[in-house]
Amino acid sequence: MTTKQIVLDSRPKGMPTLANFRFEDYELPDLQAGKVLLKGFYYSVDPYMRGRMSDAKSYVPPLQVGKPIEGSVIARVIESKTDSFTKNDLVMGMLPWSREFIAEGKGLQKIDSLDKHVSYHLGILGMTGLTAYFGLLDIGQPKSAETVVVSGAAGAVGMVVGQIAKIKGCHVIGIAGSEEKIKLLKEEFGFDGAINYKQAVDIKAAIAELCPDGVDIYFDNVGGEISDAVIANINKGARIIICGQISSYNDNKAATGIRPQSALLRKSALMQGFLVSNYISRFPEGVLQLSEWLSAGKLNYRETIIKGFERLPDAFISLFEGGNTGKMLVEIE
Ligand code: NAP
Repeated sequence: MTTKQIVLDSRPKGMPTLANFRFEDYELPDLQAGKVLLKGFYYSVDPYMRGRMSDAKSYVPPLQVGKPIEGSVIARVIESKTDSFTKNDLVMGMLPWSREFIAEGKGLQKIDSLDKHVSYHLGILGMTGLTAYFGLLDIGQPKSAETVVVSGAAGAVGMVVGQIAKIKGCHVIGIAGSEEKIKLLKEEFGFDGAINYKQAVDIKAAIAELCPDGVDIYFDNVGGEISDAVIANINKGARIIICGQISSYNDNKAATGIRPQSALLRKSALMQGFLVSNYISRFPEGVLQLSEWLSAGKLNYRETIIKGFERLPDAFISLFEGGNTGKMLVEIE
């Protein structure tokens, strides 16, 4: 069987472009014992994948030039030579950007194919939801009436962070990059206020205005000048959760800016980075709680679903242009 895959053609320098990706036809080998033949259904595009496209050493090994891009994928079993899966099962795993592919049965997680919202396992009930849940609750330790600011607020992680903070009784302010996103956060996601960082003349003053009691928790998805502006408004004992730094992922040299140490010192504040994988042993707890909140209507959710395998590189690049609201996915019919 011949299929199509997307390989890393070259490592991006700065912002990724379509030229960094190449579509290739490829012949699938015969299916061996212990393996499954899969057809991709939902492909997750995530900002961390930009890091894997460079050859710098990190917490996940770099992608190889000439080899398929890989990421989180939900796929349907076409044929199985394992005892664990049968035809038409849905599975999730770290899998290649290929229309069809053969995978080891061992690394795959089965998903209930009757689930109404299969794609949620790549978002709110998967990596991004759990990132919001553990980052905010474990490091942030929000208390009722505290003020929480979240950047990247209309993205997959950010919109869940803001809503969990509301469940915990906090005053919540989001920062995002368009008027539509600002309206959505306030009107559909229950944020108390939101700032369009692309239009604000003075982000620090805008935060001060919307956070009259100062900032107790900052959930940082973006870094850069937005974070400088939030940190300038922190309270004594503030917690700053470093989840992501997307504003610098395409930088060719290390960014310089306001150094936060003096503010942390003066305010006896905590700044802590984390990886969601630190919490792997507690994922079932997080999924259970997020599912309960979703079913009870306490969490709202959005996805941006792009259709068509050939749109995968576009969808990925568009993360760096704010093209998504909520979790960005690509669906293949
Ligand atoms: P996302 O927020 O759904 O998508 C990325 C968003 O970032 C875009 O929609 C865009 O929204 C914003 N953005 C892009 N470039 C920006 C810039 N230069 N300055 C400010 N905002 C920019 O992505 P996500 O999956 O939820 O991830 C959010 C962050 O969490 C990322 O930094 C990611 O790397 C990190 N993360 C960390 C972990 C962990 O384990 N620590 C796990 C998952 C994700 P606007 O329209 O608002 O600009």
